[in-house]
Amino acid sequence: MSELFDVVVIGAGPAGYPAAIRAGQNKLKVACIDEWKNHDGTYAFGGTCLNAGCIPSKALLESSELYHRAQHEFALHGIKISGATFDVATMQARKSKIVKTSTQGIAGLLKGAGVTALVGHGKLLKSDGTNNQVEFTDKDGKVQILSARHVVLASGSIPTELRSLPFDGAQIVDSWGALEFDAVPARLGVIGAGVIGLELGSVWNRLGAKVTVLEALDSFLPMADQAVSAEALKHLKKQGLDVKLGAKVSGADKGKEGVTLKYTDAKGEQTLVVDKVVVAIGRRPFTGNLLGEGTGVEVDERGFVKVDHECRTAAANVWAIGDLVRGPMLAHKGKEEGVVVADLIAGKHGEVNYDIIPSVIYTAPEIAWVGQTEQQVKASGRPYKIGSFPFMASGRARAMEAAVGFCKMISATDDDQVLGVHIIGPMAGELIAEAVLAMEYSASTEDFQRTIHAHPTLSEAVHEAALAADKIAIDFPNR
Ligand code: FAD
Ligand code: AMP
Repeated sequence: MSELFDVVVIGAGPAGYPAAIRAGQNKLKVACIDEWKNHDGTYAFGGTCLNAGCIPSKALLESSELYHRAQHEFALHGIKISGATFDVATMQARKSKIVKTSTQGIAGLLKGAGVTALVGHGKLLKSDGTNNQVEFTDKDGKVQILSARHVVLASGSIPTELRSLPFDGAQIVDSWGALEFDAVPARLGVIGAGVIGLELGSVWNRLGAKVTVLEALDSFLPMADQAVSAEALKHLKKQGLDVKLGAKVSGADKGKEGVTLKYTDAKGEQTLVVDKVVVAIGRRPFTGNLLGEGTGVEVDERGFVKVDHECRTAAANVWAIGDLVRGPMLAHKGKEEGVVVADLIAGKHGEVNYDIIPSVIYTAPEIAWVGQTEQQVKASGRPYKIGSFPFMASGRARAMEAAVGFCKMISATDDDQVLGVHIIGPMAGELIAEAVLAMEYSASTEDFQRTIHAHPTLSEAVHEAALAADKIAIDFPNR
């Protein structure tokens, strides 16, 4: 039996579920299929982000940060607590409750938008433009064919495995496994100093693990502005993260004393013995049993579904969004693609501005940026000016005992347009929103300068960085 939908979305992560909801808001008949199964056997909407990514990682980052502050900061406020201890089981239970509330919320939102939410596997069978067919296999194995005017592929990504170091779910785990440890490993090896490796390394380091991060590249956070990367590395090392750059892991031996990681650095072959290893070397697009024969959907050599700038695949009326397609693997990038695609399907206008996608790294201090780095602007040849303001000069940051890092603004000297804003410091991930909105409207440095920022707030750092770009900062000497 075949049911006709306007839109069938395969995947209910942060790309797929917003696409389904917006399509529902656009009065289209929508189904959204998802097969996510948690380790306890329950099914849940929300994809990687809600179940095993953004949300659980931030829950544990918050708990571990509070413990760290209780130990290292409370005394500075005159708060004396002796013998602060923590209980991993309670932390994990809190995290699981947050995840459950969030994923149940998605189910509620889909229902509220009139979306038919289906638990099971979706596969695009054929696409002839007007009558695309999706095979839906429910969790009990029952198969149904859904007909759809439009299909949106949003099957996301999965962790990349190191062939020489396969995941075993116990000693060698992926990021999801590292979010579910039931005890603090005494010695933790993190392979890859990317965003995920640094966030997870920070969690377990704050809780007392001896964390060693092995990174193949010689440079640290090469995608960030280099001034920010240098500042971040300084703080992370000070916190006890042993970050080894230029250290390429090639294999491991598992024995009674732990896992012996083998890696090569400038000095040659090295080994490191740890109790657990998190492999965080990146993620790859997931297309497992997603595409039937002859759908016309094209996949590139790295496994990404090929799309144009509007997320159209090579097959008529088949769209692809989120981690499955080119661009940064970020939840908010997928969300925007989902919303835009659902509007385009409904005949409305929509466009993703790929130049203005914020990045946030939830380490302490937090890191956030939008637009171009100084290195990118320099390489473009466009004349530029820089304004930088340290949080050390911010009254609010000092009051918060968080006066570390800086805000750096890079602007064009020809027309004053702001090209990039880079923040490392307290609440950087929240502060960046101002720059994102301003840059979306092509703001100039002067626009930032003439905007009143409340005092005392951390956002004054963004204001002062804009002033500093023209050497008219008030709260810090101009250089
Ligand atoms: P996914 O979230 O992977 O969702 C895809 C869904 O499709 C899954 O539920 C999957 O089960 C389902 N699916 C796949 N194939 C099928 C099929 N054939 N049939 C039915 N269902 C199918 N990003 C941020 O922006 N901020 C962060 O702070 C952040 N932190 C992260 C922390 C960690 C530890 C990790 C691992 C990732 C983090 N990310 C973060 C990245 C973010 O999680 C991803 O960019 C985002 O989840 C991608 O969304 P998506 O919808 O494309 O795919
Ligand atoms: P990201 O893609 O941002 O999640 O980061 C993954 C990081 O892992 C990158 O910086 C890679 O250079 C690093 N990496 C990949 N393979 C290895 C390896 N074999 N040993 C150490 N680091 C690696």
